[in-house]
Amino acid sequence: MSEFESEIDAFLQSQAQSSAIRTLHPITHRQGMMIQNGIPLIDFASNDYLGLSQHPKLIQAAKDALDTWGVGSTGSRLLSGDTDLIHSLETKLAKFKHKESALVFNSGYQANVGIIPALAQGDTVIFYDKLSHASMIDGILLSKAPHYRYRHNDLNHLETILKKYRQNHQKAIIMTESIFSMEGDSAPLKELVALKSQYDCLLFLDEAHATGIFGKTGAGLVEQEGVSGEIDIIMGTFSKALGSFGAYIATSDRIKNFIVNTCRSFIFSTALPAPVIAANSAAIDIVLAEPNRRSTVLKNADRFRTQLKARGYSVRGCSQIVPVMIGNNQETVQLSEKLKNAGMQVFPIRHPTVPKGEERLRFSFSAIHTDDMITQLVNAF
Ligand SMILES: *Cc1c(COP(=O)(O)O)cnc(C)c1O
Repeated sequence: MSEFESEIDAFLQSQAQSSAIRTLHPITHRQGMMIQNGIPLIDFASNDYLGLSQHPKLIQAAKDALDTWGVGSTGSRLLSGDTDLIHSLETKLAKFKHKESALVFNSGYQANVGIIPALAQGDTVIFYDKLSHASMIDGILLSKAPHYRYRHNDLNHLETILKKYRQNHQKAIIMTESIFSMEGDSAPLKELVALKSQYDCLLFLDEAHATGIFGKTGAGLVEQEGVSGEIDIIMGTFSKALGSFGAYIATSDRIKNFIVNTCRSFIFSTALPAPVIAANSAAIDIVLAEPNRRSTVLKNADRFRTQLKARGYSVRGCSQIVPVMIGNNQETVQLSEKLKNAGMQVFPIRHPTVPKGEERLRFSFSAIHTDDMITQLVNAF
């Protein structure tokens, strides 16, 4: 065996021993929240919060674009891949997010790993919430900028590190998610805006889990809190509540033009195919037209949260994401397997993704979960 092979084997064995091994589970059929994965399961793990991934209007929009444009986009945005379809989507997005401009990216991961290094050129320091998504962390590491993390949602801690390190650098960025993917809780946006003004920082907000769910028109937590104007870069994805694929930033014309000129993950990657762009556009229309979807998904999550609390479980969050705290890898894996046998798909979130003792099952709800599905889930507990 080569050095690589024996190291790889040792790693996989130790992951398996600590119940931390990751494996793939192909789904063979999906109809809304009912999936076939060996056995029929109700899906409580998907990010299809509004149930749009199989919506007839998204499918039709994609089909029409497929007939008109074909499958591939033929190039990056700066070469042959740019279309008026993408520009219309960006105009719609900018209006939706109450910003001057928007720029579409191929995925949330690509947006975050590209934008942060582009922004942090020169003497820049980054302050970020400890629970920020891996794509943000990777962007920070790729930027090579000095970076300091603050305890989750702890603005006293943020201010302490701002006082200590901000003055040593010309520019500063504060980064956070608005709805946190593993906690399901929300960031205090108004207070963050106050700090970013006081300490002259740029504020970057990842709304991957908030877009489509929060705010009067579904534009996210920025809309609910009325802070769109104060946040320099609002990033979001089409891959969660919008049921499709891709991502975007909503920002000023100036920053957009800068990103187009400097962001390597934007410049050096092929544009999204037209059917995806068309589906994304149709998804925004549905978010605007059907506010009942976002109220239903939050009601579904609240119902589950209330009933589990009543049964003595420790649950977290204030959104469509509901972590149920279990406390160690082995029990978390066992419970997810028991739930699977009862017909529920949910995944264990283990150490090292979360700190030891905070291992959990992460349930995510959708507007198309029925009352009966939630009753079945509660009863399974
Ligand atoms: C899912 C997610 C991303 C990545 O988005 P993709 O489009 O799936 O690449 C980025 N940030 C957060 C907070 C996310 O939850």
